[in-house]
Amino acid sequence: MKLKNFIICFFLILGFTFFTLYPGQVKYDIIIKNGKVFDGSIRPSFRADVAIKNGIIVEVSKSIEGKASRIINAKGLYVMPGFIDMHTHVDRGMYFPENRACLNYLLQGVTTVIVGQCGSSAWPIFEKAEDQMERWSEEGIGPNAALLIGHGTVRQIVMGMEDREPTEEELEKMKLIVKEAMEQGAYGLSTGLIYLPGRYAKTEEIIELAKIVAPYGGIYHSHIRNEREKLLEAINEAIRIGEEANIPVHISHFKVMGKSNWGLIRKACDLIEEARSKGLKVTADQYPYRFSSNNPYRSLIPKEVWLGESEGLTQKDIEEVLDYLRDNQLIELYSKITPYFPLSPRHIQFLNDLPRKRLVSLVARTIFDINHGPENTRERMLFLKRLNDPIEGKKIREEVKKYIEEWVGAENFIIAICVEKKFEGKSLKEIAKILGKSIEDTAIELELMGAKAIPFQMCEEDIEYIMRKDWVATGSDGVAPFYGIGLPHIRSYSTFLHKIKKYGIERKTVSLSHIIRSQTSLPAEIMNWKDRGWIKKGYKADIAVIDLKNIKIKTSVSNPHQYCKGVKYLLVNGVLTIDKDEWTGKLPGEVIRLKKTATD
Ligand SMILES: [Zn+2]
Repeated sequence: MKLKNFIICFFLILGFTFFTLYPGQVKYDIIIKNGKVFDGSIRPSFRADVAIKNGIIVEVSKSIEGKASRIINAKGLYVMPGFIDMHTHVDRGMYFPENRACLNYLLQGVTTVIVGQCGSSAWPIFEKAEDQMERWSEEGIGPNAALLIGHGTVRQIVMGMEDREPTEEELEKMKLIVKEAMEQGAYGLSTGLIYLPGRYAKTEEIIELAKIVAPYGGIYHSHIRNEREKLLEAINEAIRIGEEANIPVHISHFKVMGKSNWGLIRKACDLIEEARSKGLKVTADQYPYRFSSNNPYRSLIPKEVWLGESEGLTQKDIEEVLDYLRDNQLIELYSKITPYFPLSPRHIQFLNDLPRKRLVSLVARTIFDINHGPENTRERMLFLKRLNDPIEGKKIREEVKKYIEEWVGAENFIIAICVEKKFEGKSLKEIAKILGKSIEDTAIELELMGAKAIPFQMCEEDIEYIMRKDWVATGSDGVAPFYGIGLPHIRSYSTFLHKIKKYGIERKTVSLSHIIRSQTSLPAEIMNWKDRGWIKKGYKADIAVIDLKNIKIKTSVSNPHQYCKGVKYLLVNGVLTIDKDEWTGKLPGEVIRLKKTATD
């Protein structure tokens, strides 16, 4: 017995000594072996293993030996930095816990999103930047996120929806809110100068607010004032803001819309390149599609032609009824219809401070959600009555024809959803030919069937021209939708892999490494991140392992809620979020905060 005990003790001590002397026999958390690596630069892929420990890439070399908790065999696959989406609106959806993972983005290989775009703040209505950052950090998010402060939200808090310049005092208030957000770790300011209330702001107002952001090392992101015939003026305005506020300028979803403006993008690029040659930091992002908007589905008949003289129920009608209620009743009603519930103290404060007229209009706007169109039986009946009248009917047909021709042309009006499946994906022009009818009669017939069309407002030549620029990153402009609900733009499901597949592999517009750079190291450089966007020793382990040869884009305009296939593994801060094509249920994303550098 004694001897046996001795032997047991001996081996226990031996084992203990062995593990003490050789701590971390498991040297790495993960090794990705046998893959081909795109490191984030424009150099072609090369064979290498990648080792990860504690969320950091600790080694990249031809062959890595040593034990790891997990070895991923990436033979036949490509290893690259996780994608950084320069422009998304996922923060709206991410307000709701079920969307926190942003699975539609993880499955595209996206590991970081920049939110608070187009002048609309990241934190849904009147919550402090800090509160949102705290909540996301505590509860977890799929990809990492950096936040911008939206000029439109700030202006709305201070001045409501008023179409005028701010007073001195109001401007000071706006500056304070921006400063507060920067102190809390926001990355910069965004504007949406085509939206309300952004549209009401003069250039000088934006310059003043951008000047608050600049000393922090923040950036100015802009949905510029015009993306059509006045594109060049809008680009010049953005450049002027950068010059005068001494801040890097980033142009969001760079494009030009409307058939008659196609090609203007070249001159816009010249303006940007001229500014860059003078040393100004001007960059842009784009999404690789010919159609815009997170709600790209349109009627084939313009609303005013459909409704005719009768406007139907308007927001004003509802305001008139609501005006009979007292303030506290209005707030009570509002709290029952807003999705941002329970209301934050800041939100309640905001409602209490609102002038009566604005409170009524806010509640009315939140309630007002009438479905116009062929499913509205009252409107349908009235429309058909007018259509069958010889004089009215002729007028309607002329107006429908004009609307289609002047906008994009029947050849660029694509039927996305239709009860007649054979028409899906075809242009209005093609369908008119099949039916042997005029464009306008075809449009009316399809509209009455409940068909949904998408106007292709951009052209392929412009998309490819922009894509070749080495200062253009990728930004999806998409959302985090409730899976299966509504009709989002397919960019929410496919931007990053679609760009690789269509423009890198099929059309060869640019090299694969050029595209991968545009969605990894370039956005990291624009955001001034020194620890993301590369497969390099010392960088954060945000890594996508993709089967580039077998990418499957399943989303389509007829069936948008379809995840991409191709991302085999995805690491966010060293944690596997996609493992063999499937979500692991993990939420390891971090809120990336701008470290304070302001001196004053
Ligand atoms: Zn925008």
